[in-house]
Amino acid sequence: MEYSPKKLSDILERHGFNFKKSFGQNFIVDENIIDAIIYKAKITPNTLVLEIGPGAGALTYKLSEVAKNVLCFEIDTKLKPVLQELLKEKRNVEVVFEDFLTANVKEKLSSYTYETLYVVANLPYYITTPIIMKLIEEKIPVSKIVIMVQKEVGDRFKASPGTKDYSSLSIFLNYYFEVKKLMDVSKHVFIPKPNVDSIIIEMKKKETQRKVIDEEYFFKLIRDSFKQKRKTIKNNLKEYPLEIIEQVLKKNGFDLSVRAEQLSLDIFIDIANSVSKGVCSND
Ligand code: SAM
Repeated sequence: MEYSPKKLSDILERHGFNFKKSFGQNFIVDENIIDAIIYKAKITPNTLVLEIGPGAGALTYKLSEVAKNVLCFEIDTKLKPVLQELLKEKRNVEVVFEDFLTANVKEKLSSYTYETLYVVANLPYYITTPIIMKLIEEKIPVSKIVIMVQKEVGDRFKASPGTKDYSSLSIFLNYYFEVKKLMDVSKHVFIPKPNVDSIIIEMKKKETQRKVIDEEYFFKLIRDSFKQKRKTIKNNLKEYPLEIIEQVLKKNGFDLSVRAEQLSLDIFIDIANSVSKGVCSND
């Protein structure tokens, strides 16, 4: 059976499927957008694609034609008959009906062989950040992430120091990935139509990454620095060795009255490494 957005609507209707706002269900019905995602993701025949929230399978169907395998996690079991019908000839697709956030994704991945692992998905917007944090914290070995997200959230991902969208998350992401916007997406390509604008962003794992001596400490330092966004570094980092931090800030043209939102990834790396070594350094 050939896939088409019209066919998708028919299948959904035939199975009496009701969209659930609580699961962030806004399905893509514009084939051009699906094709654009596939084209921009540059999937190779040895790529395993991890898709979070296949929905009715519109993106999944086309991913399966270019990837080695597609592994999906879908929370809504009501989509089972829909996905079974749409993907019945697709031997390289597996759908796990579990909450991605609590699933043992690494264990599932261990049964696959692949050269590269990509995440390609139109994410459920209500859990965009937890999904990305899970990928990072559980060290899931993704080399590229191509995702549709709410525009405002995407702006935060790729924000620069000194801008209103800059946050601890911007720094975490910047540490691991080159983040870039691929395209804007109109509300009209989804059913039901969402209230927010969307963008597709790409996050490519950095090939060369500045080394942090103690990653756990580095992440804690960043979280604490942004604890109260309007407060200075001096006030947010009271429990830290302020003398060393002050020396690093000075080298970079700042003092302890600076706010975290002004500081780049490189400065945070300098601070974390200097404190780890107990000296002021720029390694
Ligand atoms: N990929 C489909 C598309 O583009 O048409 C659907 C995208 S829709 C924005 C998000 C999907 O994520 C829904 O199918 C929803 O049921 C699913 N979902 C929501 N929360 C989830 C979770 N915690 N784990 C796995 N899937 C989830």
